[in-house]
Amino acid sequence: MHKVGIDLGGTKIEGICLDETHVIERKRLSTNQQNGYKSILDSISTLVYDITKNISDYTIGICTPGAISKKAGLIKNSNTQCLIGMPLKNDLEKMFGKKITMENDANCFAMAEATMGAAVRYDVVFGVIIGTGVGGGIIIDGKIHKGRTNIAGEWGHHILYQNGNKCYCGKSGCVETYISGPALEKRWFQITGKNEPLEDVIQNLDENNGKIWKKEFLDNFGAGLANVIDILDPDVIVLGGGMSNIDFLYTEGRDSVHNKVFSDIDTPILKNKLGDSAGVFGAALL
Ligand SMILES: [Zn+2]
Repeated sequence: MHKVGIDLGGTKIEGICLDETHVIERKRLSTNQQNGYKSILDSISTLVYDITKNISDYTIGICTPGAISKKAGLIKNSNTQCLIGMPLKNDLEKMFGKKITMENDANCFAMAEATMGAAVRYDVVFGVIIGTGVGGGIIIDGKIHKGRTNIAGEWGHHILYQNGNKCYCGKSGCVETYISGPALEKRWFQITGKNEPLEDVIQNLDENNGKIWKKEFLDNFGAGLANVIDILDPDVIVLGGGMSNIDFLYTEGRDSVHNKVFSDIDTPILKNKLGDSAGVFGAALL
């Protein structure tokens, strides 16, 4: 049985066809969100057709941005706006005439890293995405732990500070409002008055302002992940998303986590191996 994975990104849709874990076909299409929901359905259909031309039987897994409501099966909290409130899974099942599996990008990331990436040797894996948002996925013995309401692993919306920064989710003080890329850039602006992208910010941390910014970031990163460890106690944490390229998270960031955790044994914090491909591989492996 072949496995098809589709990754729905903000600017591209990528498709992959696997024979067990070998890549048979791979293709990407650029998407234009302005063209709306129907054009996304069409693009998925074209991709699946193209990458399965020479095979007869296959499963389909879809990686979507945002969460999938267990109650209604609709997509919520997606930054691909035209997907919000849409019954994507039902529509695709009708279109392809078969059951498909759909998971959010953090769960797909965790699945891919646990099966083929940095966390292959570990039983309980916490996969973390820190980028424009903060998400996470839990893999236990090769399976996604989704939770009763499909929010297991969503550590980005646990509260670090009561009455802290306002979050789009309606709460205040969520982890995401402190350590996502946009949150970190906003904080840099508050401290220095400078509007600079994160790549530039992390080159300038020797001055006093830089030290303040970095200490806050490390404290918040450490507290957030220490809370996760205290509850889940995973065998490994794998970092993904744009922030996973910041080297000091694997040294000073790791130390900050370990200083705040309840345990006296360190949890490995590893960089992802699959990079941007984790979503599409994870989708195929669902
Ligand atoms: Zn929130």
